[in-house]
Amino acid sequence: ELYNKVLELKGNIRVFCRCRPLNAEEVAGGASISIDFETAKDGELMVKSNGAPKKMFKFDSVFGPQADQADIFEDTAPFATSVLDGYNVCIFAYGQTGTGKTFTMEGAEEARGVNYRTLEELFRIMRNRQGQYRYEISVSALEVYNEQIRDLLVPGSQPGVGAKKLEIRQVAEGVHHVPGLVEAHVTDMNEVWDVLQTGSNARAVGATNANEHSSRSHCIHCVMVKGENLINGECTRSKLWLVDLAGSERVAKTDVQGDRLKETQNINRSLSALGDVISALATKSPHIPFRNSKLTHLLQDSLGGDSKTLMFVQISPNENDLSETLCSLNFASRVR
Ligand code: ADP
Ligand code: MG
Repeated sequence: ELYNKVLELKGNIRVFCRCRPLNAEEVAGGASISIDFETAKDGELMVKSNGAPKKMFKFDSVFGPQADQADIFEDTAPFATSVLDGYNVCIFAYGQTGTGKTFTMEGAEEARGVNYRTLEELFRIMRNRQGQYRYEISVSALEVYNEQIRDLLVPGSQPGVGAKKLEIRQVAEGVHHVPGLVEAHVTDMNEVWDVLQTGSNARAVGATNANEHSSRSHCIHCVMVKGENLINGECTRSKLWLVDLAGSERVAKTDVQGDRLKETQNINRSLSALGDVISALATKSPHIPFRNSKLTHLLQDSLGGDSKTLMFVQISPNENDLSETLCSLNFASRVR
């Protein structure tokens, strides 16, 4: 047995691994499984492959195929409290296309994901704190595609064409802002969910293949919270970022050309930039390379310091996906 670099509960970074179930097609085709769940306990995940030695990875939590959306949220809910306490929070879903990033974050109508449940939890806590705190909430929805930021709350904005060019500006020490980005003020769950659904629907607009487009762009929701403690007058401002990342699968450079090659290079660049930033933060490196991608630049104020980060590393149990699975697990080891 080979022990991989142990992921510890380090500082403010948490890494959860979630493995999707085999789908009906894989079951029908008699797919082999490369993950050993029998031994999964205390955040340990065992990867077995034909003949090769077993590899062990350790996470803050491991969720196998039988874990449902409520199980996932049980371990995620504390981040909602943190946001209302004034901390910045980033929640990411990382992994190969088809491993359940969108399922974990967005979920489905009958199986709500982290986005919905976290917002619901925010409003629940706000109600409980009524009289002690006053809160104002606004949301933005954006997409980073090919190192360009697109506002999903602006009707008719399409990738590339006719979209207003949005840039990141530093407005004060440690305060970055995207001038022109729509911030919709919301007061309850129905309202916020309506706004974010509009954003999700806008994602597909202008894309020739909506699924392909969504696997190659980062979909980002930002919830901005202004809080006031009514007893001592203290004010807080914090942000919650909910990020469904582009697919992490490697594409052979020889297979792509032109626009597709540029797209692939931009995805690789932003995902590795994210890994570099989180691992530099985890090792307390003096230089954090935020500027290497739009994604890390955008999230700069909410990564590091006393901010909290949660990364879902999504994997497939199918032996055919083993090499991508190992890449994702190795990425996770790097960000600890
Ligand atoms: P990604 O966003 O990573 O490309 P999706 O979230 O679209 O992947 O998931 C791919 C498919 O697998 C979808 O049909 C989704 O509903 C299903 N799926 C993913 N994770 C789970 C899970 N934990 N339980 C049941 N179905 C899942
Ligand atoms: Mg997806």
